[in-house]
Amino acid sequence: MTEEYDYDLVVVGGGPAGSSTAFTAAKSGIKVALLEKENSIAETVRTSGVTWIESIKEFEIPGNCYNPIKNFSFVSPNNEVTISDSIATAAVLDVRKTYRWLAHEAEKAGADIFVKININEVIKNENNDIVGVSGTGPNGKMIFHSKVIIDATGFTSVISKAMGFVTQWKRFGAGAEYEAKVENVDPDTWWLMVGQEYTPAGYAWIFPLGNNIIRIGVGVGKPESDIDPTQRLKEIIEKQLGPIKKLGKITPIEFHYGLIPNDGLSRKTVFNNLILVGDSAGQANPLVLEGIRYAIKFGRVAGKVASDAIKNKKTDADALYPYEENWRNAIESKINSAGKVQDRWIGLSDKEWDKELDIIKELKTEEFLDFIKADFGLSNMLKLAVSHPKLAVRQLFNLVKGK
Ligand SMILES: Cc1cc2nc3c(=O)[nH]c(=O)nc-3n(C[C@H](O)[C@H](O)[C@H](O)COP(=O)(O)OP(=O)(O)OC[C@H]3O[C@@H](n4cnc5c(N)ncnc54)[C@H](O)[C@@H]3O)c2cc1C
Repeated sequence: MTEEYDYDLVVVGGGPAGSSTAFTAAKSGIKVALLEKENSIAETVRTSGVTWIESIKEFEIPGNCYNPIKNFSFVSPNNEVTISDSIATAAVLDVRKTYRWLAHEAEKAGADIFVKININEVIKNENNDIVGVSGTGPNGKMIFHSKVIIDATGFTSVISKAMGFVTQWKRFGAGAEYEAKVENVDPDTWWLMVGQEYTPAGYAWIFPLGNNIIRIGVGVGKPESDIDPTQRLKEIIEKQLGPIKKLGKITPIEFHYGLIPNDGLSRKTVFNNLILVGDSAGQANPLVLEGIRYAIKFGRVAGKVASDAIKNKKTDADALYPYEENWRNAIESKINSAGKVQDRWIGLSDKEWDKELDIIKELKTEEFLDFIKADFGLSNMLKLAVSHPKLAVRQLFNLVKGK
């Protein structure tokens, strides 16, 4: 049996980007469908869920969705640094709870949520512009006609690929992690672990969720390394490397695996009747490969721009361009700078990592936070490139400045 629907806006993908787009679009009064292929929103977790309290407050994410973090520890083969703050500035999200809250907000605003729908085809008009999508649902084929479609399918970018607008990301991060119960962990402190033994191109992490639960994982840059992150994760746990030893017995609760684009902001993100948002648009901070706050922030922008365009009955690429202009103005130069630091980090030997941690030790808390968030320019960071007494620090920040 074929089911057929008509909507103003169809959002494909019920991750943070899709739910946030559906939320603002439905709030503005247009008819919105949010389509998710899994049995429920956030059935599979593919992320470590670290984000920033500032963003949590901006998005009004409820307090029971996250564990606040005050201390940021880095460990390299022969060095260690902890940057501490008096108040919590970062957080580890309960990913499932947060993503379901985002979807519920969209539903409350009036969006219709469909789960168990795997979208695999696009519908085009005589000009080859997208005017709908189709796929398989619980009862057979489902067709959705729509004035604007949002590709929020994440890394796979299903809709943009089906339109022939994009190909597979070439440079990306692959990550594997356990959510696990441990014997000892400080709930206020996260750990980033760098060097060849942890991972040859990337970093490993311990992110606490409270109640002696952690996410422990390994990320590997592709194509720079052909290491399998799952295998490497098992090895570093078995060897009890660095801070892992202090955790005591590690009892896995759930395994997570995911891919995140790391090709820079290379994609065009608006086409006639189509917007790409979140990972499908490549909106991620390459330094620590975090994209949740961008997915939510620019999802909300996409929902507003799409609904304005639909109300004005003009939904071509020009009409949708304010979305691309908005996110590029907000993050393009920061992401480009972060990409340069990442290029430097990916090539560091163990000895060089030990030295890099000495540079990080020189940073004040707010400078470190702006740095790791890729919020270059917010503090006096760029002044560091000129006036810091240590040459190595000046060199690092000159890189950020692009010199
Ligand atoms: C290992 C790892 C760790 C990470 N850690 C962090 C972190 O600590 N902090 C951070 O901010 N970011 C992190 N990220 C990145 C973050 O997860 C992404 O940037 C974010 O999830 C992007 O959201 P999204 O909505 O664009 O895509 P996704 O979260 O991938 O959501 C896409 C949704 O679309 C659905 N979908 C896909 N195809 C179809 C289809 N054909 N039909 C219907 N539905 C479909 C999927 O099931 C999914 O629900 C990490 C990524 C990885 C891989």
